[in-house]
Amino acid sequence: SEGLTLEEAQEMVLEIADTIIKAEPILSQADRDLGDGDHGLGMARGFTALKNEVEEHTFANLRDLYQTAGSALLSTMGGASGVVFGSLFLAGGKTMAGAEYFGSHELSHLLNRSLKDVMNRGGAKPGDKTMIDALHPAAEAAKENIDKPLSEAIHAAALAAEAGKEASKDMIATMGRAKTLGEKTLGLPDAGAISVSLILKTMDLYINK
Ligand code: ADP
Ligand code: MG
Ligand code: MG
Repeated sequence: SEGLTLEEAQEMVLEIADTIIKAEPILSQADRDLGDGDHGLGMARGFTALKNEVEEHTFANLRDLYQTAGSALLSTMGGASGVVFGSLFLAGGKTMAGAEYFGSHELSHLLNRSLKDVMNRGGAKPGDKTMIDALHPAAEAAKENIDKPLSEAIHAAALAAEAGKEASKDMIATMGRAKTLGEKTLGLPDAGAISVSLILKTMDLYINK
């Protein structure tokens, strides 16, 4: 088929929420090592709100689903990461007008629009040891696989995000709180990059189940 139906896309978003809520201790520890330790709680709060908005709701279309999910994150997480992770879903709202299925084109447009919005809003670039270091390679992989079936495109994007998260270990933080730690940030992955790789891994598991 051309991709996921609206109902399947909704179910996938709820699985992403469950994954992030369960990963709270891992995300908290990663942010404790390099930041202020609140990433896990912030993400759990945001994705619990997202779950409440998305569960048992009938959406008009994919755009409505992603817009609702992104707004829930933006309004409950607050701060930089609310904007950053809200944008991942809001980018779906901005790019999916008229889309009937969530396919390889929708995946690529969502990731690339989100990357553009996060970079414009936050000023970080690839290599600064942020979630961009997982999102950028995932967006590139999705673009390279835009004419392949969704199952292949999401698998390539998830592997690229995982590799990007691993590569963030070798980067020195230049943004946010981790900046003051300088070279002490070497060897540890960025918390937000872990979140991005978990989100894409959950999508891969859902689509390829
Ligand atoms: P805070 O930094 O406000 O405590 P979180 O701990 O929830 O927020 O999120 C931290 C994560 O947000 C970082 O690990 C990083 O991946 C991401 N992040 C922070 N600032 C930026 C930015 N300017 N651009 C992209 N991602 C960012
Ligand atoms: Mg933090
Ligand atoms: Mg904080």
